[in-house]
Amino acid sequence: MKNQLVHLMLNDEVRIIAADTTQLVEEAKAIHGTYPVATAVLGRTLTAAAILGSQLRQEWENLTITLNGGGPAGTVLATANGNCEVKGYIANPQVNLPAREDGKLDVGGAVGKDGFLTVSKDLGLKEPYVGQTALVSGEIAEDLAYYYLQSEQQPTIVYLSVWVDIDTSVLRAGGLVISPMPGASEETLSFIESRLFEIQNYALMLMQYSPEEAVRKIFRDGKIELTRTQEPKYVCNCTRERFSQGILSLGRKEIEQMLKEDGQAEVICQFCNKQYL
Ligand code: ZN
Repeated sequence: MKNQLVHLMLNDEVRIIAADTTQLVEEAKAIHGTYPVATAVLGRTLTAAAILGSQLRQEWENLTITLNGGGPAGTVLATANGNCEVKGYIANPQVNLPAREDGKLDVGGAVGKDGFLTVSKDLGLKEPYVGQTALVSGEIAEDLAYYYLQSEQQPTIVYLSVWVDIDTSVLRAGGLVISPMPGASEETLSFIESRLFEIQNYALMLMQYSPEEAVRKIFRDGKIELTRTQEPKYVCNCTRERFSQGILSLGRKEIEQMLKEDGQAEVICQFCNKQYL
C-alpha cells in the first residue's frame, strides 16, 4: 500500500487535502524505534509536514515544523519539501505514557502544551519565512489549525490520525485538512459542519477507503473535484560530505580532542540513523 495525498475542491469553494501516510509513519517508527505514543506524536507531525509541503509552490521549496511543548516527548521536528518528501525525529522516541481515559494514546500529554509550534519555510528568499503560534493542546491537529488561522489567516479544520495496533505496528495513519476559501457561502459552511460527525476516526476510515473515497463519503451530495495527487515519502538526503563539512566546522582543536578521546569521529544522522565514521 502506497502513501497517497490528494488535493480536492468541494463546491468550488473549499480546499481539501486528504492523505494516507501509513507506510511512511511505519518507516519512521522502524528508523527511530518509537514506542506507541511517540509513534503517534512523530506520525502526526510527519503527516502535518507532508500536508504543508504539498501546499508549497515549488518542489525544491521546503519547510520545517518544530514542536516544543515541554512534555516528556521533548522536541519533535519534521521537514518536508514541495515534492512531499518528509523526514523527522522525536527527542525521546521511547516516551511511554498510560492511555487516556477514552483509550486513545496521550499525544497531548507527551508533547505538552507549554510552548510553541514553529513553521519555518525556505522559499528561496534571503531569509526563511517563520510562523510561530502557541500550542493549544499538544494534540498537534488543533495546534496546526491554530497555526493556519493565526499565521496564514486561513480558517481550517484539521484531523491528524495515527492508529497504532496492539503489536505496536502502524495500522493506519493519515490527515485531513479542510479550508474554506475566503467568501465561501454560508450554505457550504453549514454543509461542512453538518458532515463532520462522519469523521469520528479518520485513520479508521482509511481501513476501508482511499483518501479520495473517504472525502467523497464524508461530503456525499457535495460537488467534489480531484485537482492533484501526490505521493508522500520518507526520504533522508544526508551524505558523508555534508557531515564532513559539519565536523570540519568544529575546528582543528575540537577534532584533535575527539580523535584523542574516541580515536575516530562518528556522526549519526538524526533523521535516518545512518552512521558516518
Ligand atoms: Zn540521514
